[in-house]
Amino acid sequence: MLIALILINYQMKTWDLYCGGDIMLNGVSPSVPAFQSIWIPRDALFYANLEIPMTNVSERTPNKSVADVAAKKQFILKADPKHISNLVRAGIDVVSLGNNHAMDGGAPGLRQMLALLDKRGIKHSGAGVNWQRATEPTVVVASDGTRVAFVSYLSFLSVEGLRHCTPATSVRAGIAVLTLQGKNGESELERLKKIVLRARSQADMVVVALHWGVERQPFPAAYQVSLGRLFIDAGADVVIGAHPHVLQPAELYNGKPIIYSLGNFVNPGGGSSAMYKLTFEKTAFRSAMIIPTTYSGGRASHSKRDFNEISRLESVLQTKYKSPESNTLTYHAS
Ligand SMILES: [Zn+2]
Repeated sequence: MLIALILINYQMKTWDLYCGGDIMLNGVSPSVPAFQSIWIPRDALFYANLEIPMTNVSERTPNKSVADVAAKKQFILKADPKHISNLVRAGIDVVSLGNNHAMDGGAPGLRQMLALLDKRGIKHSGAGVNWQRATEPTVVVASDGTRVAFVSYLSFLSVEGLRHCTPATSVRAGIAVLTLQGKNGESELERLKKIVLRARSQADMVVVALHWGVERQPFPAAYQVSLGRLFIDAGADVVIGAHPHVLQPAELYNGKPIIYSLGNFVNPGGGSSAMYKLTFEKTAFRSAMIIPTTYSGGRASHSKRDFNEISRLESVLQTKYKSPESNTLTYHAS
C-alpha cells in the first residue's frame, strides 16, 4: 500500500505552464478587470505575450512613419500603465516583449514599462535598453523547483518589417530580433543553439517565444514550421508563437510542443481564441490542453462556445508535417 501511495504521489508530481496570447489593451480603461474571468491555479506558471507598451509618455516611435500610420499599414499603440495591476492580479509570471509594438512609445515608453514590470515582479524578455538586455533570458521557477528560462524574439521574414519595430543595438533600446537567412543550414542551427545554450546555462529548460507569421492566417507560414522545429533541434523545450492574432495549430515535434500562434488573449475588440495548459514532469513534456477563451472590450473569459473549432485544432496537434528539406519546406495543413 505504501509503495502504491508513493507511486501515485510520484506520478502526480507535475507542474503546469499556462500560455496566453496577445495582451493588447489600447484604449481600455484600467478599471476594466481584464483578466477577472480567467482562472489560473496560483501554483502554475503563467506566460503571455505583452504586445503593447504600458506607458503614458507622449513619445511615438519614429520608425513607423506618419504616412504608414495614417494609411493603417502600421499601428502605434499604448496602454495605461495602471493595467499593470490587472496583470499582477491575473497571476501572470512572465511576458514576452519581442514583438512589433513594445517600442511604440520609443525608448522612454519601453523604460517606463520595464520599470513597472520589474517593480511588480513580472519577468520579461525580448526588449531592453540595449541588445544584451533585450536578448537576456529570464528565469521563472515552477512549483516543483524546475527552473524555466524564457527568451523572446521578433522573427519577421522582412528586414524592413523588423526595422519598423526598432531592433535593439549594443547601445540603443529596442527589440530582440532574429533576422532570418532563408535556409536552415548548419550555420543557422549553430546560431539558434547559442541562443538556447545561453538560456539553458541559467535554467533546467528553455521556452522560446517567437513573434512571427502573417496576421489573420489560420495556419502557420512555412518558415514558422521550419524555424520552430529548428529551435527544438537546437535544444529548446517549448516554442510558443504569436503575432497572427488568431489561433494556429500546434504540433509535437520530437516530443516537444510547438504552438504556432495563440491568437489574441485580451483586446479592445471581440473574438475567440484559446490558452494552452502544458503539463510537465520536471523538464519532460507530458500533455497539452487547449482552454477556449473569448475576449471583448478589454476583458478575457473562459468559453466553450468554439468547441468545434478548438477540437479541429487539437486534432492538428498530432499532425505530422513534412520535414524541412533545406530551405524549401513544403507545408501541409492537413
Ligand atoms: Zn504582433
